[in-house]
Amino acid sequence: MIADEFPTPSWEERFPEPIKFLPVAFILALIAGLWWIYVTCHLLPMMQESHSRGLAWLELLIFHAVTAMLLVCYFLCVFVHPGTIPDKNEDPSWEYDETEGPQPLATDTVLSMQESKRTGERRHCKWCLKYKPDRCHHCRVCRMCILKMDHHCPWIYNCVGFRNYKYFFLLLLYTSIDCGMIVFTMLPSVRAGTTPTTPFMTMFLLMFGETLAGFLGVLVTLFLFFHIFLMQKGMTTIEFCEKSQGSSGFDSSAYDRGFVGNLVAVLGDQPLLWLLPVAPPKGRGLSFASEDSRLTKDMEAGRGIRRHAHRETPVAPKRRSERPYHCGGTGSTGQSEDSLSGSGSDEARSLEPDLGSSRGPHGREVQGYGATDDAGTGSRESPK
Ligand SMILES: [Zn+2]
Ligand SMILES: [Zn+2]
Repeated sequence: MIADEFPTPSWEERFPEPIKFLPVAFILALIAGLWWIYVTCHLLPMMQESHSRGLAWLELLIFHAVTAMLLVCYFLCVFVHPGTIPDKNEDPSWEYDETEGPQPLATDTVLSMQESKRTGERRHCKWCLKYKPDRCHHCRVCRMCILKMDHHCPWIYNCVGFRNYKYFFLLLLYTSIDCGMIVFTMLPSVRAGTTPTTPFMTMFLLMFGETLAGFLGVLVTLFLFFHIFLMQKGMTTIEFCEKSQGSSGFDSSAYDRGFVGNLVAVLGDQPLLWLLPVAPPKGRGLSFASEDSRLTKDMEAGRGIRRHAHRETPVAPKRRSERPYHCGGTGSTGQSEDSLSGSGSDEARSLEPDLGSSRGPHGREVQGYGATDDAGTGSRESPK
């Protein structure tokens, strides 16, 4: 499934600390525990009664199908690497030469890049000594740069990024369905289990399973809705956190490709396979500039720049490192070095002003839409 065209780091590089597999073991134990409770305390007793046997078989079938999908997605989340910057042998153009210092964006690079530092230089990672593609961030835990990094998730001992985001999204979806199914279909068994004739252990397991599935279900479903929101905005969790601290609002993602385009960017370009853990989005995860996104971006960026110009010109730009992330999720988004380090190699990066700075060379492309200088006048509708 994982093509060789994407060389991934070795097992030792990816999983240097076996102790960090403990959360993974915990999740697997949770899944196994809930499965066992649902089957032995709910499905098997139902099958012994002739009037509920048919329903029990139906529930057994659906429950196992959803659980199988959940497990496949979970293993893919753990073992599919989100992708990192190509190494020297593969593509030397990403190598950063410390002696030369950061270089300004080359014209051909500008065409394919949307993000740069405020100074107009290419973003680079001081740990990996590589130039960073758009949406790429360094993860402290993984000790490498992650393409289209969303967040680092300790529960899968992996980062969520370009190549495993689809599996992560589907994992949330199937977990929500599975927990919801346990909660609602097991309710009659829980009620029946409260009679005094029920053995204590059965009663305890039913209550425990119902509570645990309910708790997990609510948590994961909320998380799923958050990621549906992000998907529809064409944003990653890190970009959401950046926006939540900025002044540009959540409607100006540079990577918004419209309703279907955003779905395709996450779930792949085959609608029939959207809900299956196969056929992730195509591409290398190194460039996200498409014609659609660029046109949208230019319009939106024009407004963004204007806002920035009004609000930020009189004062020195705030450094992102001064404002720690307060972002939701599994609480691990802040592992991105970009957000935590005070080194200044990257904190000054900001999407909106740089969108403007990178527009020059392709201003020609958007002239049909009124060119970039007009974009900020608000007189034209975004082509969304
Ligand atoms: Zn790095
Ligand atoms: Zn990571």
